[in-house]
Amino acid sequence: MTRPLKGTLWPCLVKICTSRPLQPNSHHPHRLLMASTLSTTPSCAHSSDIKVRSYLQYVKRKLKSPPKPPYSHVCQVGDPVLRGQAATVAPEEVGSADVQQVIRTLVQVMRRLECVGLSAPQIGVPLRILALEYPEQMLQDSSEASRQARGLEAFPLRVFINPELRVLDGRTAVFQEACESLSGFSASVPRYLSVEVSGLNEKGEPISWQASGWPARIIQHEMDHLNGVLYIDRMDSKTFININWQQYNE
Ligand SMILES: [Zn+2]
Repeated sequence: MTRPLKGTLWPCLVKICTSRPLQPNSHHPHRLLMASTLSTTPSCAHSSDIKVRSYLQYVKRKLKSPPKPPYSHVCQVGDPVLRGQAATVAPEEVGSADVQQVIRTLVQVMRRLECVGLSAPQIGVPLRILALEYPEQMLQDSSEASRQARGLEAFPLRVFINPELRVLDGRTAVFQEACESLSGFSASVPRYLSVEVSGLNEKGEPISWQASGWPARIIQHEMDHLNGVLYIDRMDSKTFININWQQYNE
């Protein structure tokens, strides 16, 4: 899950997103239509943007075999791995090289993208593993108003394997949230105010954590990923936005 954007007002988003947006239907000079697209859509190539690959990606694939999970990128909505029920990790497997590699990659990707939670299915591994972290510096970067309203709280890295969720306060709060698997979008989502998550840590030891406010939201968001659920399944659909929408009008 991505961190809350700086400040509480939407105009702050514009300051963060300074890169020029892609124009819808524009033909980027370095884009290459794959053969399958060319054969089916000879005159309206822009309508098949899904099949468009950058020239650089095309060359890279020619030279190098495709990456394998755990990926160092985040899978995007449409990838079946995001919609399945992730499998339980056998406790005796927690210390195995494979599981430890998944955990290491999960933490690396989460930190590189500066997001505050990530689940194994998002890096292409359908196992019940998630990582959560809210660095102190990130909290310092948020406004006091945002901290108060959302209940933002810094917390150290926590890894949960086979986590179980228990709701401690069934009341809900609605805030805008985002997901690395739906890159560039955001929506308002109701989440329980307080939850408890229990499972094994990266060493295979039992742990549990009672959290409220934003940490509780992050936990619920990441738990959903283990069950093939995305925030778009829970959102108020009229609040769904492209976070760069204003740039298209500039
Ligand atoms: Zn997510």
